Amino acid sequence: MSGIPTDRFLAAIVESSDDAIISKTLDGIVTTWNSAAQRLYGYTPEEAVGREVSLIIPRDRPGELPSIMQRLRNGERIDHFETVRVRKDGTQVDVSVSISPILDDEGRIIGAASIGRDITEKRRSERERQALQQQAEDELAARTESEARFRAVWEATSEALALSDANGTVLDVNPAYCELYGRSADEFIGKSFAVIFGADDQVTAATLYEAIFNAAEPPRSYEVRITRPDGTERFVEARADFLVRNGKRVAMVSAIRDITERKRLDQAQMDFVAMASHDLASPLTVLRARAQLLQRRQRYDEDSVQAILDQTTRMGRLISDLRELVQVEGGGLSLMLEPINLRDLAQAAVAQARALTSTHQLRFEGADCEIIVQGDRDRLGQVLDNLLGNAIKYSAPESEIVVRTEAVTGEARNSVGDQGAGIPADSLPSLFDRFYRGGNSSGEAGLGLGLYITRMLVEAHGGRIWATSEEGVGSTFTVALPRTGCTEISAT
Ligand code: ADP
Repeated sequence: MSGIPTDRFLAAIVESSDDAIISKTLDGIVTTWNSAAQRLYGYTPEEAVGREVSLIIPRDRPGELPSIMQRLRNGERIDHFETVRVRKDGTQVDVSVSISPILDDEGRIIGAASIGRDITEKRRSERERQALQQQAEDELAARTESEARFRAVWEATSEALALSDANGTVLDVNPAYCELYGRSADEFIGKSFAVIFGADDQVTAATLYEAIFNAAEPPRSYEVRITRPDGTERFVEARADFLVRNGKRVAMVSAIRDITERKRLDQAQMDFVAMASHDLASPLTVLRARAQLLQRRQRYDEDSVQAILDQTTRMGRLISDLRELVQVEGGGLSLMLEPINLRDLAQAAVAQARALTSTHQLRFEGADCEIIVQGDRDRLGQVLDNLLGNAIKYSAPESEIVVRTEAVTGEARNSVGDQGAGIPADSLPSLFDRFYRGGNSSGEAGLGLGLYITRMLVEAHGGRIWATSEEGVGSTFTVALPRTGCTEISAT
């Protein structure tokens, strides 16, 4: 550095520096301003020197300068402080500033020198990096969320769903699928879908699978019969959808619905139509024969008239069952609710049933209180008539039939017990189904509608009905209705 005065040398360094170098008094008045400061902040040294340094401090940071000055007065240095400054044109610039105190010969602080560096670029790339990271995180979260949503639907839907590849290997199954087939997920995943078929059907199933997987337009849905491990068979309706990657089908989504019940009902409906037309046609045959007989003989014949009356009664019963069916199914059932004394109602039903059978022993056992329910008199009467009619129909003459009325917590119950042949335990659950007829019903007029209609009437009253039975001992049908009142009529 020979020959060059140190302050000149320093001035040259300051002037050529890429960093904005400013010095200021302790009051914040600018004393020097290099050309990098001009480039960064837009003010020339002439414009800046002598003015307050707050010139380049944003208005929304009023506390910044006083706090910096305070720290300097305490002799502190400020290193790489990242902040914002305002340019002459009003735009803001991100800067990193280091500020150190300037001391006089006695070591007193007389001002400060600040070195500022434009960090817009650094900030921008930092922000970009953060934005990218945020975007990646958002995408991951969205994927995780959509996966979770998909999983929730997959798990919760009652539709049985399976995912399988081109070879028929199962990739995934949902809980409804496992339930339908009576197997755990482990028994499917990684194995051929064909395990759900009976041994005889497996080859056909595999061929069908291949055909569907490769069909240009697979059938919208198809029905198949499957066999569960416990040997039970179910009918299912399946729909196929495909996962496609690069224009190629990679997996099949099968959505499967159990249609066994629908099939059973369809069949029952067919049977019903066959049975109803048969049951309605046979009284007609008798009617015609008797009428022809009367016509031929041209005289009153008590026997024929009685037969005609019996057959019309029988037909009338069948037709009224059909009419009831339409009413309870078609929503045409309207109840005229009123307070009803169930005890009186049951007693009246028993009295009426006595007219139907001269052979059965009919007995009434009433509670010792008046049991009041809200109900439709005719409909509740019909419930009892139906149960009493069945008891008479399905039990031996001379045997006893007991009708009982009792009050249980919150409920009023009417039961009809007979000493008939009883009902096999496995028939009990189907007893109240539409068109259900038991093995003991052959020879008896009926369409398998009586108990179904009875149940619908009871349920329309907010009640429930069930049967208990022991083969060879008898059956008891109980109707329970919500009870509104029970008044003691005799102290016990
Ligand atoms: P239906 O009498 O027309 O067959 P229901 O719906 O009244 O139709 O009864 C359904 C079936 O329930 C009958 O076919 C019969 O097998 C059985 N069942 C009903 N009541 C009794 C009873 N008291 N004892 C034995 N079996 C009965």
